[in-house]
Amino acid sequence: MPHVLIAGGGVAALEAALALQALAPDPFDVELLGPEPRFWYRPMSVAEPFGLGEARHYELSSLAAEAGAHFTLGELQGVDVAAHEARTSVGAIAYDVLLVAIGASAVAAVPGAETFRGPADTDTIRGILAEVVGGHVHRIAFVVPSGATWALPAYELALMTASHVRAHDVEGVELVLVTPEEEPLQLFGRAGSDAVQRLLEEHEIEVVTLATASEFSYGALSLSPEGRIPCDRVIALPRLRGPRLDGLPQTLDGFLPVDGHGSVVGLEDVYAAGDITSFPVKQGGIATQLADAASQSIAARLGADLVPQPFRPVLRGMLLTGSTPRYLRRELGASAESALAGPELLWWPPAKIVGRYLSPFLARLAGAELPASIPSVEGTVEIEVELTDRELERHGAPRHEPEEAPDETVGDVMSTEPLVVAPEDTLGEVADRMRHSDVGCAAVAHYGRLIGILTSRDLLRAFAARVHPSEARAREWMTADPVTVPVSAGLEHAIAQMDTHAIHHLPVVDGERPVGMLGYRRAVSRTRASDVGLGF
Ligand SMILES: Cc1cc2nc3c(=O)[nH]c(=O)nc-3n(C[C@H](O)[C@H](O)[C@H](O)COP(=O)(O)OP(=O)(O)OC[C@H]3O[C@@H](n4cnc5c(N)ncnc54)[C@H](O)[C@@H]3O)c2cc1C
Repeated sequence: MPHVLIAGGGVAALEAALALQALAPDPFDVELLGPEPRFWYRPMSVAEPFGLGEARHYELSSLAAEAGAHFTLGELQGVDVAAHEARTSVGAIAYDVLLVAIGASAVAAVPGAETFRGPADTDTIRGILAEVVGGHVHRIAFVVPSGATWALPAYELALMTASHVRAHDVEGVELVLVTPEEEPLQLFGRAGSDAVQRLLEEHEIEVVTLATASEFSYGALSLSPEGRIPCDRVIALPRLRGPRLDGLPQTLDGFLPVDGHGSVVGLEDVYAAGDITSFPVKQGGIATQLADAASQSIAARLGADLVPQPFRPVLRGMLLTGSTPRYLRRELGASAESALAGPELLWWPPAKIVGRYLSPFLARLAGAELPASIPSVEGTVEIEVELTDRELERHGAPRHEPEEAPDETVGDVMSTEPLVVAPEDTLGEVADRMRHSDVGCAAVAHYGRLIGILTSRDLLRAFAARVHPSEARAREWMTADPVTVPVSAGLEHAIAQMDTHAIHHLPVVDGERPVGMLGYRRAVSRTRASDVGLGF
């Protein structure tokens, strides 16, 4: 029986196990591997401090058994792709197909602020609410950080705090929501933003948009590049990062690049789904949709008679407000105007995390009675549209181009003969060529298209993991989807990119073709920035 190893015990992992159970005519041997024995349903943790809900958890071994799988307590640490072997905290596990669904790590984004990551932080919020009711706290800022995060809980916490303050008749409390978005909950399109804006106004919550919070200290939240918001407490959402996994290509932030079927780019029999992928929107519903696409592909790969359908992202959010929730829905590839929002149900069952297999499965566990068919809801459109590259870029970290032509461009300063290697080249070959060309990094290109960058630091990491130089491949150790600049970009812009991402080498591209490499020292030495020192 083919062995499918699913690393993870969260939303994407469970959806995948359930999907494989439904799709496979002959059962596969499906193993879930996770370091935590329970599955946590985290979205409801926002309601806990207000006594409006509870973040439930379930034993993973029972859930896995119900999904036709078995659960192993352990942690994925790396992968030997050639040997089809996962390196884990409980030894090597052989697989036919591996699905990586290990989620993302939540890291504090605003020094000095309280970070709300979910169930572990509900007591912190309870403490702040007690201070508000006791009259000791008068102004609270809720922060959506820049970068990869799931913004909804910041809005929910702000709205529920406003309702809590009203319910306790506390006077003189001001709430402010700080976000880098152009409009509140921008991803949910026009209807979503308008609905949330109205709610924020009704609850008298001030909104500061296009703002990046950098630090909370001395009674004020500092914004970058400038601005201060006086407040007594700051509650910030975390930024998400992917943990390092030896032998897999990862982006700068640790995410795994996948194609539309969840296959990890450049690797055979390795798939990924959920927050660990480089798909820019980190959300439970998106995680299940990726898991469904990957499961179809895995089932077909192992002999099931089906044509795998690619991932077509639809964003569904249930916004808790302290009274009637709002349902928000947007097909990410469609126009922002086609979004839907309102107090009426837009999907069924009305779960916060929507998964084709997971929602009914969890609803049954929770004891909910489900009708056989989905109630039809007027106004719901069922159009699934492919996400275009332009939309992806719009939802990802935007790559701002300078508005005015600067004096010196990247093309004037870059090295024009970058070392370009192939994804299949071994690390030994790459190291030889780097030494021969006397450079600290190589661009990795597939049929002329830049897909990654490999630096001397990556080589060090690989050799420290005891890989063999003539077996390990560039594609397994490179940083995938690297940050790039076009030849015509201004030098100041390129330096800002390197500062933001803390990198020292920036590939320069013409379209998708690598045509140069820009080094940090060289770039800085040509600009005014050299006056302020390099910082290393
Ligand atoms: C407070 C809060 C509210 C949210 N609200 C919503 C909402 O309303 N709607 C929505 O759709 N989404 C919401 N989300 C986001 C949603 O929870 C995540 O997007 C979703 O859980 C991602 O699924 P995942 O499977 O990728 O990761 P997770 O669900 O995080 O699962 C990761 C799993 O991998 C395991 N793991 C970690 N490291 C390893 C390793 N090395 N090896 C093996 N296993 C590992 C973990 O123990 C865990 O079991 C919310 C999140 C939070 C924190």
